[in-house]
Amino acid sequence: MGNPNDPNTVVDPELRVKNVKGLRVVDASVMPLIPWGNTFTSTMMVAEKGSDIIKKSIECDKIVPLVSRDDPNSPNFPDNVHANFIFEFANTMDLARNNAYDSPVQNNPVLPLLLAILASQRNSPKVSESLRHKEYDYIIVGAGSAGSVVASRLSEILCVNVLLLEAGPTPPLLNDVPVLSRNFWGTDIDWNYRTVSQKHSGFGLVNRQVVWPSGKGLGGSSLLNAMIYVRGNTKNYDDWAAHGAVGWSWSDVKPYFLKLDDNTDQEYISDGYHVVGGPISVQKPRYQADFKKPLIQSAQQLGYKIVDVNGPSQNSPDFSHSEITLHNRKEIPIRT
Ligand SMILES: Cc1cc2nc3c(=O)[nH]c(=O)nc-3n(C[C@H](O)[C@H](O)[C@H](O)COP(=O)(O)OP(=O)(O)OC[C@H]3O[C@@H](n4cnc5c(N)ncnc54)[C@H](O)[C@@H]3O)c2cc1C
Repeated sequence: MGNPNDPNTVVDPELRVKNVKGLRVVDASVMPLIPWGNTFTSTMMVAEKGSDIIKKSIECDKIVPLVSRDDPNSPNFPDNVHANFIFEFANTMDLARNNAYDSPVQNNPVLPLLLAILASQRNSPKVSESLRHKEYDYIIVGAGSAGSVVASRLSEILCVNVLLLEAGPTPPLLNDVPVLSRNFWGTDIDWNYRTVSQKHSGFGLVNRQVVWPSGKGLGGSSLLNAMIYVRGNTKNYDDWAAHGAVGWSWSDVKPYFLKLDDNTDQEYISDGYHVVGGPISVQKPRYQADFKKPLIQSAQQLGYKIVDVNGPSQNSPDFSHSEITLHNRKEIPIRT
């Protein structure tokens, strides 16, 4: 994303693909520079702000009512029916498969019972097996972290109808257990990518190919991710604006980060960088590894500060507690 006159940009600051009518990209790929942190929270911000940009362009009085478009006798019935979408439906998950990583709870005696219950339950929402309408105002490809947010936000406008397409299945409820997300790498909710053979890394791997997980299903990569909640440095977004992404500086994007936030750590609420009530519950993980306390104490004795990684002070080298997206001890995959 950047200045439309720059030949290196693909989308303009309104997320429109240059020279292609009616197509926008709203996901992690539009970031002009990668923020200094993990990318989930920034992707959600892009989706919230992108949805707002699209919503501002919707003029309900110019939209033909859907009932008229679905009636074959109506002059508004589309000649060219959009019916060629391929939509793969929920496959059953093969939990017997040997997954990529061991789980710390795998030897717990109640685990088989828990697995049996959770693996037999599917998460809402239910996917539809046919297209309900002949024509849609917005077709969103990919129900991942960003696509789910955009679909949800556009659906708030009652005069438009929205089709959300996803190539992968609905994940099982088991996927909501945070510690298990790594066990879903290499399953049917992962695209199962591998890099090409690496020259300078992957020495211990077959063909020096590195596993490159990428979520495939309702929730996208949030089905597999490590739930670390970090927005990056405020300067990252000022750099975006300086690179031609006008309207995406820190002061422009901060309201969208706050819109997402539901921070349950009281000590952070007062710093002006967090709020409660948003759709993403954030907290410090309750489990603290044994080595963490002495590490923090040592840092403090050496004069380092322990700061909120998403707060006002982001000077290196400070230390911070990690924050994760967790709600009622469950992972928060992003779905509609
Ligand atoms: C293993 C892993 C761990 C991570 N850990 C963290 C972390 O701890 N903290 C953090 O901040 N970030 C983390 N991330 C990154 C974060 O999850 C991603 O940046 C974010 O989810 C990207 O969102 P997205 O919407 O751009 O793409 P995705 O969420 O990947 O969504 C893309 C969706 O499009 C679908 N799709 C693709 N092609 C088609 C098609 N042709 N038709 C229909 N559907 C299609 C896919 O199946 C997928 O559901 C991690 C990522 C991974 C993979």
